Amino acid sequence: MRLYPLFADLSRRAVLVVGGGLVAERKVAALLHAGAQVTVNAPELTPALRRWVEQGTIAHRAEAFREAWLDRVWLVVAATSDRATNALVAEMAGLRRLFVNVVDDARLSSFHVPAVIDRAPLTIAISSGGHAPMLSRLLRERLEALLDDSLGALAGLAARLRPRVRLRFPAAAARRRFYERLFAGPVASLLRQGRQREARIAAERELAGDPSFDTGTVVLVGAGPGDPGLLTLRGLRALNEADVILHDRLVSAEVLALARRDAERIEVGKQAGNHRATQEQIHRLMLEHAQAGRRVVRLKGGDPFVFGRGGEELEFLRAHGIGYEVVPGITAALACAAYAGVPLTHRDHAQSVRLLTAHCQSSQDTLDWAALAQERQTLAVYMGVGELATLQARLLEHGRSPATPFALVENGSRRGQRVVTGALAELAGRATVHAVRSPALLILGEVAALAPTLAWFGVPPLGAAAHDTGDAGRAARARPAARPDDVLAALHRPDPFAPARSPASIAGALP
Ligand code: SAH
Repeated sequence: MRLYPLFADLSRRAVLVVGGGLVAERKVAALLHAGAQVTVNAPELTPALRRWVEQGTIAHRAEAFREAWLDRVWLVVAATSDRATNALVAEMAGLRRLFVNVVDDARLSSFHVPAVIDRAPLTIAISSGGHAPMLSRLLRERLEALLDDSLGALAGLAARLRPRVRLRFPAAAARRRFYERLFAGPVASLLRQGRQREARIAAERELAGDPSFDTGTVVLVGAGPGDPGLLTLRGLRALNEADVILHDRLVSAEVLALARRDAERIEVGKQAGNHRATQEQIHRLMLEHAQAGRRVVRLKGGDPFVFGRGGEELEFLRAHGIGYEVVPGITAALACAAYAGVPLTHRDHAQSVRLLTAHCQSSQDTLDWAALAQERQTLAVYMGVGELATLQARLLEHGRSPATPFALVENGSRRGQRVVTGALAELAGRATVHAVRSPALLILGEVAALAPTLAWFGVPPLGAAAHDTGDAGRAARARPAARPDDVLAALHRPDPFAPARSPASIAGALP
C-alpha cells in the first residue's frame, strides 16, 4: 500500500470520534491540539474525556451511533473496542466519501495517523502505512532526539522573513545559500541560547548582507565520562551539526562515533607538564576555525566547567568576539558515583559533597585539609593516581579517621570499569596492588561503604578479602549487569537507516 501524505487543517472543523476509552482519549487530545471541534460518541467516557465535556471543550453523544451525524463532519475516527461497530462506522463514512481512521485497523482506514514530531509550525510525520508502527515510533524517537526545541522558533522566523528574502535574492541558488546559513549558523545558535531578539537582529543583518556576521560559533560540549548513553541530547545535536570537532584525549571513541561523519575531528589531548602551550594551541585552533565561518564543537570529557578549563576558553572566545554556547556534561564524580553504586549524599552518612583536584603539589598546597578531613562529607577527587599516597597522608594528618571507606573508580561508566574499595589507611596500598590507572576518580567518605552492596555495573568491586557484602550485595552481583545504554546508543546512531542491530530487536528492547 502506498499512501499519499497529507497535512489537514482541522481548526474549527467538526470531527466525530466514536469510542470513549483511553485510545479515543489520545485521538481526541491530538485533534484538540490541531484546533478541531470534536464530538465523542460513547456510552461511557474516561475521566479526562468527561472533564472535557464538562468544560465544554468537546461535545458528547451517549446514544448508539447514528449515520445522520456524519452529515456535518469532515473526518471520522472509530476507536471503540468493538470490531463490528468500527466496521459499521467505517462503511457509513466511506459511503459519504468521508475519510475515516479505524484505530489499529489499516484495512478499514482511509486515512492513517502518523507518528509526529511537533516543532510547530514545523511538523514531521512518519508512517509505515500500518505495517510497522514500532519502526515509525523508533524513527520518531530518534528524530525527536536530534531536533532542538528551538526549531519551531527558527521556522517562525524564516516565515516572517520569507517575502523579503524573495526580493533580496531573486535567484533560487542564492536564496538556498541564505537559508542554509540561517538554519545552521549564528541565528540558529542565538535561538538555541534563548536570545530571540538578538536572533531577529542577526537575521536582519544577514539579510542586509553584513559581512561581520560571517564568523562561526563555538559550542563547548561536555561529552560525559565515556558511556555514549550519558551524552545529552543537546550535545548530540551539536555533534550532528559540527564542521570541526576539537576533542580531548579523554573523550571516548563511542561518543565521537556519534558525530556527523563529515566533521573534521582534531584531537587536542594534553600531555602532563605541557599544559600551557597546548592550551594556547587549542585557543588558536578554535579561533581559526570559527573565523573561517565553521561550526566548531569543543568537546571535553565530563563537564566543561568542572576541571575542564572551560572558563578560560570562554574568556578567550569572548575577548575575540566569537559567539559560544555551553552544553553541560555528566561530570566524572556523578558518573563514577552512579556506576559504582555510591550515593554522593545520604541522609545517614553525608550532607555535603566536595569536588576537588589534587593532581599536583600546587593544587594540594591550596586545599583546606582541615576542612576536608571533617566527617560526614563526601570527597570526589579528580586526580592522577600517583597522588594517592600524599592525599592519604594529609587527610590522616588532619584527623580523618583511618577507617573512612573509599571507592576508587577506574574507567567509570566504560566497559573496563573497575572499582577498588577499602579504608583510607590502606588507600595507596590497595591502588598499587590493583595497579589502578588513569582515568580514575576517588570517592572518599562514609557513603563509599555502600559500594559493595549497591554496585550494579560491570565487574563487582574489588573489596578487601574479608569484606562481607551481605545477601543483597550477592544477589545484586549474581545478575548480569543490564546495559540500557546499548539501546540508547542504537537510538542515537546518526544514520537511521544503518541500525547496528535489526530494527525488530531494537523495537523489542523498547519499553
Ligand atoms: N571535565 C572532566 C574532568 C577532567 S579532569 C569531568 O567533568 O569529568 C580529568 C580527571 O577526571 C581524571 O584524572 C579522572 O580523575 C577524572 N575522570 C574523567 N573521566 C573519568 C572516568 N571515566 N572514570 C574515572 N575518572 C574519570
